[in-house]
Amino acid sequence: MIIDIHQHITYAKYPQFSKLVAHGSFTAKDLLKDMDKWGIDKSVILPLTNPDNIDYFGVTGNQETITECQKHSDRLIPFCNIDPRSIMNNPKADFSGLMKLFKDLGCKGIGEVCANMPVTNPLYKNLFYHAGEQKMPILFHLSPKKGGLYGMIDKPGLPGLEEVLKEFPKTIFIGHAPSFWNSNDADVITPKDRNGYPKGPIKNKGRLWTLMETYPNLYGDFSAGSGHNALTRDPEKGIEFLKKFNKKIFFGTDMFMKKKNPPEHLPMMQNALKEKKISKTVYENIMHKNFERVFK
Ligand SMILES: [Zn+2]
Repeated sequence: MIIDIHQHITYAKYPQFSKLVAHGSFTAKDLLKDMDKWGIDKSVILPLTNPDNIDYFGVTGNQETITECQKHSDRLIPFCNIDPRSIMNNPKADFSGLMKLFKDLGCKGIGEVCANMPVTNPLYKNLFYHAGEQKMPILFHLSPKKGGLYGMIDKPGLPGLEEVLKEFPKTIFIGHAPSFWNSNDADVITPKDRNGYPKGPIKNKGRLWTLMETYPNLYGDFSAGSGHNALTRDPEKGIEFLKKFNKKIFFGTDMFMKKKNPPEHLPMMQNALKEKKISKTVYENIMHKNFERVFK
């Protein structure tokens, strides 16, 4: 069983908007074809609802995501997404009512959260509070700075993330994107490097190791080039990370495009298992068991 926690689709009914997405049209049908090709059993579909996101107009929002997932409920799992500025741009906005509506429609979590505001902004804290109350895990994109980017903003060493992990212990946070994964290296400091794909061995372990170890409510989604790069640039430390946090990492691809080759995350995991670098238990936890446990 393989569950991909990070996918997006474009509007089947309005293909003209998919021109705004870098990879072009990628409907639920295209995704299902790819999943069959690569042996992926289930995928989580993440709506994009933050206008900061580059693919905001091209990738499905909440309602279309739910509609498509209902048509293929054996394979596709919907998340919902709520911009923290929704309902009057108010840090006291009652998101629980909205979350309950989405839960009734089958949504299992919230994301991909991409609003380009500091992670400790009161509007974000309000979203995290309600997500904890409603038991809706938050999957977020992390960014190094304001403007020209999308994603929650935090400083090197992730002090803001640590603050909210402590303040909202009932809320499950699932990190993603370069600025999250590059925090596995203490020497990646500048915004440019934090948003990039650093190469070579990791000399000093970054704060991500400590946060993953300290906070039971922090998880990671290793999708996209960022997660793959962070776990393969230093093969030894990558395997160490996968083993150490095997109960806190989700398999994900974020590869919404019609690809000739399987997403690189698949051979990464399959080869690690074949070469006995990770055990069958570690493999299965990451590929599906963590998802089944956290999202039961
Ligand atoms: Zn994504």
